[in-house]
Amino acid sequence: MKIISFPPYGLFGEVCYLLENNGSAALIDAPGNNDEIIAALSSNNLKLEKILLTHGHVDHIEGLADIAEKTGAAVYIHPADKPKLCDSVTNLSEYFGLPPVKKYSGETVDVREGDIIDLNGLDIKVMETPGHTSGSVMYIAEDAIFSGDTLFKGSIGRTDMPDGNNALMMKSLDKIASAKWELDNYTVYSGHTAPTKLSEEINHTIPYLKGLYSYDDLL
Ligand SMILES: [Zn+2]
Ligand SMILES: [Zn+2]
Repeated sequence: MKIISFPPYGLFGEVCYLLENNGSAALIDAPGNNDEIIAALSSNNLKLEKILLTHGHVDHIEGLADIAEKTGAAVYIHPADKPKLCDSVTNLSEYFGLPPVKKYSGETVDVREGDIIDLNGLDIKVMETPGHTSGSVMYIAEDAIFSGDTLFKGSIGRTDMPDGNNALMMKSLDKIASAKWELDNYTVYSGHTAPTKLSEEINHTIPYLKGLYSYDDLL
């Protein structure tokens, strides 16, 4: 398994990744830097087989229709976020005053808790982490976690936008912090920040944020 990263892209500095295994590749989110992604596929001699969406917000799906069409890759998304692929209101392009995203009208594959997606022999596990959106998921492959907008380096995704839910986010953070992780030293590759260590976020960021919110609840 190899991870190819790209510089932050677009208005919100979205970060996507290519996950490679035995010549096959999966793209984690599709922010719109398609030329760079296609160049990376070609220089590494990879076939893009899957596009794994962490959620359906505009900044993570802006390039989806074009790259899916160009590569023929299968598109994976949680059913709760699937309607965002075709809706400027719920994918927030309207909310942010952006032009509508080119609609992806092809097939999608549903992902749910515990699913295992095969990438040419590599197991990619799905963990549901609702809160930032109701269909937010993380993808876990070996010691890498692709966390989308659920968990960042030193922070978490917003829950104040449409379809966000702070109580669910707190539950998802508890789930991440108390999960039985099989390996040591997982690296978290988020949708907007530099990579970080899972232990760092579990030991510092999550307790700090949970502390803030529980204090709020007492007021
Ligand atoms: Zn988002
Ligand atoms: Zn985002």
